[in-house]
Amino acid sequence: MIVMKFGGTSVEDSDSIRRVIEIVKSEIPRKPLVFVSACAGVTNRLLRIASLSAEGKKDEANDLITDIKARHEKLVEELIPSDLPKNYLRGKISVYAHELKNLSQAISVIGEVTGRSLDTIASYGERLSSMIIAQAMEEDSVKSMFVDAREFMITDDHYTKAVPLFPVVEERAKKLLLPLALNGYVVVTQGFIGSNGKGITTTIGRGGSDYSASIIGSLLEAEEIQIWTDVDGVLTADPSIVGAARRIRKMTFNEASELAYFGARVLHPKTILPAVDKNIPVYVRNSRNPSYRGTLITKGDGNEEGIAKSIAYKERITLLNLESSRMFLAPDFLEAVFAVFSKYHVIAHAVATSEVSVTVAIDDTSHLEDLKSDISEFAEISSSGGKAIVCVVGENIRYNPGVVGRIFSALKDIRINMISQGASEINIGFVVDENDIEAAVRLLHAELFANPSSQGSPDQLFD
Ligand code: ADP
Ligand code: ASP
Ligand code: MG
Repeated sequence: MIVMKFGGTSVEDSDSIRRVIEIVKSEIPRKPLVFVSACAGVTNRLLRIASLSAEGKKDEANDLITDIKARHEKLVEELIPSDLPKNYLRGKISVYAHELKNLSQAISVIGEVTGRSLDTIASYGERLSSMIIAQAMEEDSVKSMFVDAREFMITDDHYTKAVPLFPVVEERAKKLLLPLALNGYVVVTQGFIGSNGKGITTTIGRGGSDYSASIIGSLLEAEEIQIWTDVDGVLTADPSIVGAARRIRKMTFNEASELAYFGARVLHPKTILPAVDKNIPVYVRNSRNPSYRGTLITKGDGNEEGIAKSIAYKERITLLNLESSRMFLAPDFLEAVFAVFSKYHVIAHAVATSEVSVTVAIDDTSHLEDLKSDISEFAEISSSGGKAIVCVVGENIRYNPGVVGRIFSALKDIRINMISQGASEINIGFVVDENDIEAAVRLLHAELFANPSSQGSPDQLFD
């Protein structure tokens, strides 16, 4: 059995969906379990409907609902030739549009949107795309079965970033999905959405369809997890900044995790964790170019080729500077600092210490004032926003100190606010001003990947 996940751009219109069906058909002997996202742009629009409703802009919200309805009706028109399913799906789309209007109306009356209603509204994107794709497969003579992910992706109540309850998910997935797949049905279901077990819809965080697919791939011990997207695989940098970014043929779980964590949108940050547990290979592939093998992500054999593999960046970072003449270097100083971070559930993305100060990079500023006020009781604290972490990832960086020198000489004209090397030593990160992201990424890419053999990476590692 394999798991195949198709992202928003892979299902954005009827031509893309036809391509997806061909790709799935070519894998039928391997018993695919198919996860789909909402059509590209739909989740953003749904969330916009929620915020417009809360602002009382009902007409604008209604216009967006009408757009979403028309977009899915067009898909049905183009993909479903038979009258009966066509009418059924049209009916369903009307019901969903009606439900969205009711939700929008309720939010506008209250004037406020809760996480719970955001999740319910966001779920319509995946619910619409998946029912149409499942039927389109049927029409194309694929023996398929539609399963609503809320039947098996059982989560806690942390709306908008709900945490799957693995033992329950495992039990449900084994009962609901496995027998269908083993009996030759192509199961079509949704990524991103789940339920809290009491029938209330949840979502597992933006971009979470990758994570849904890898959770189920791991729990059902799939042979392979395939993430189908709109680029040829994991690239050496974000292609919207570096047009000449190259495809990476092979990388390790650690490299892919670090890269996703530090902002490479191609994979949700948690995608790799479940795959590591069961050592399941993950492929990142292009649904517009399916003959290409994409990027293979595995445990690796400890003999990795190349030094730097890719560059990522994380925007909207705030730096906190802590100084304490009184307590500094006292053994419990850092403990006191991190107790405050933990109190407000703030994650430190990078930390650097010197004789007289500690600098911490964070992205969640929702409790910034509380955090500063608590810390100011034992240290001076100041903050500066508008920063970004740029990060170079590669298993062999730790064995090649020379590459660090090359990174910093390439960035000699960029103001670097802070440097950090993770404990895993497979990444080097530095904080720059947000305005400098593009320049920093381009300079690094030119230095490290224009001619990969110059950093010991054999050319065949990249395309
Ligand atoms: P999907 O809808 O398939 O989940 P996403 O938009 O979430 O697709 O992720 C794919 C996008 O990630 C690509 O189109 C690309 O612009 C962006 N991206 C950023 N960094 C990288 C990288 N290092 N490698 C590949 N793609 C990247
Ligand atoms: N549709 C969801 C989003 O846009 C989940 C996903 O695409 O992975 O965030
Ligand atoms: Mg994605």
